[in-house]
Amino acid sequence: MKVGVARETAPGERRVALVPELIARYVAIGVELLVEAGAGAGALIPDSAYADAGAKVLPGPEFYAQADAIVRVQKPSAEEAGWLHKGQVVIGLLAPLIDPQGAMALAERGVTAISLDALPRTLSMAQVMDALSSQANVGGYKSVLIAANAYGRYFPLLTTAAGTAKPANVLILGIGVAGLQAIGTARRLGAVVKAYDVRSETKEQAESLGATFIVLKSGVDAAGVGGYARALTPEEQKAQQDELNGHIATMDVIITTAQVPGRRPPLLVTAAAVAGMKSGSVVVDMAASALGGNVELSRAGETLVTDNGVTIIAPDNLPSTMPAGSSAFYARNIYELVRHLVKDGTMQLDFSDEITAATVITHGGAVVQEATRRLLEPTPEPAPAGGAA
Ligand code: NAD
Repeated sequence: MKVGVARETAPGERRVALVPELIARYVAIGVELLVEAGAGAGALIPDSAYADAGAKVLPGPEFYAQADAIVRVQKPSAEEAGWLHKGQVVIGLLAPLIDPQGAMALAERGVTAISLDALPRTLSMAQVMDALSSQANVGGYKSVLIAANAYGRYFPLLTTAAGTAKPANVLILGIGVAGLQAIGTARRLGAVVKAYDVRSETKEQAESLGATFIVLKSGVDAAGVGGYARALTPEEQKAQQDELNGHIATMDVIITTAQVPGRRPPLLVTAAAVAGMKSGSVVVDMAASALGGNVELSRAGETLVTDNGVTIIAPDNLPSTMPAGSSAFYARNIYELVRHLVKDGTMQLDFSDEITAATVITHGGAVVQEATRRLLEPTPEPAPAGGAA
């Protein structure tokens, strides 16, 4: 079986789904590797490094014609999808719930699409394949570096002959994978860190990394299913915001990471709260996307400075800004999924397997994943006003 590694073409995407160090492992499971020329360029991995490790580097058209399965980071563009053929498999972070029509187009071409963002993350054997976690980890780390870079003062306490610098007060809102990494990174830089999450179970995790957990008097605990948070009611959200505002005003740096699956990210830092912050403070909104973010004033992909001197940064695709590190983790996630699916050198899909059933989005010419299929169902016509004539 030939597994091909695609060159990413999404704007700004620098990651790659294979690093040369893993080639020997693929060979050991009976897989031959093809690499689309230039696939590693964004992560500064030359074609020669793949070739030296035993992969065959091919130009795009030959690559797409020969690969049995294509591993990649982001979903194929419409043009790339047009180069895929019946029976081919494509594996990546395909975001079928954001682009169900794209999944439909792959199904119509007879392509089997497997998406790592649908992985059952609490299953212990799937942890090594958990690309959402590995990439959130990179994002949490990088968000702190970006904040430290934008902050015009020191993070650590510093005593020098020229005076003493006070440590930065950093607040992390949302303590999932990214938030925990952000706490650890800010602590390593010497900041005084506070953290808050609606899931009370995160208190112990935050404290174990050296943060002070903020307990709100409103006492909302919004643990949902699978370790995720549920959306708050408007009353809970109002109570949360009112109390958080008091903490926000005293902070030098705020990093927000809060997400609720399938929903717009919760609003945690309002424009009024930012108006109460000191000049020179920095806010990084990791949750910002076209859907909105945790910070009312943030705009995905943009940095702005408010009239009261607060820098608000909404970085795009943080893992891609550290492409070698994030690709190394991502490539391992992809390899482990491929290893799970390949038996005797060929990919065999067993839908009684929990990981297969959850991650296969299209197969046999149809969209087979329930959640994606539901999004493609026609919305029922509204009943005509005034009843039947
Ligand atoms: P996520 O990206 O969905 O959300 C980030 C955080 O935002 C979460 O901790 C969530 O509770 C928090 N949040 C949501 N609404 C909020 C609000 N209104 N105010 C404050 N915080 C809010 O989360 P994630 O990083 O993908 O992780 C989600 C969960 O999955 C965590 O419990 C994590 O430990 C768990 N997880 C488990 C495994 C495993 O068991 N192997 C693997 C990965 C993740």
